[in-house]
Amino acid sequence: MVGEPQADCLFCKIVAGDVPATLVRESPTTLAFRDINPQAPTHVLVIPKAHHQDAAALAIEAPELAADVLREAGEVAAEEKAESYRIVFNTGSGAGQTVFHAHAHVLGGRGLQWPPG
Ligand code: AMP
Ligand code: ZN
Repeated sequence: MVGEPQADCLFCKIVAGDVPATLVRESPTTLAFRDINPQAPTHVLVIPKAHHQDAAALAIEAPELAADVLREAGEVAAEEKAESYRIVFNTGSGAGQTVFHAHAHVLGGRGLQWPPG
């Protein structure tokens, strides 16, 4: 069923507590934790606790949850005192998506080039 935990999903395992993560924030519907391979001084992943494949699927399947993820991304940036930051949703393997459970990368704490690579 849509939103149900997937046995082979790394981020569902983090939600279940079966894989450790460095938590930054938790809300009733979301988790925020530090990326294991940070690309900036602030590099936090914000995920819905429910399993949705990517950001667009999340917005279709659970629009309020998509809003929760974006709000929490902003809260992370504020807590980290990142005045400017980037929210990235890699979508599809060609764009670098490796975990097919929707997640926002919150990147900040350094200058961020535009256009991105
Ligand atoms: P993406 O490549 O956009 O799918 O993002 C997946 C992100 O998850 C990558 O930036 C990885 O560094 C990160 N990652 C993978 N395993 C873990 C983990 N166990 N804890 C925290 N972050 C992870
Ligand atoms: Zn999942």
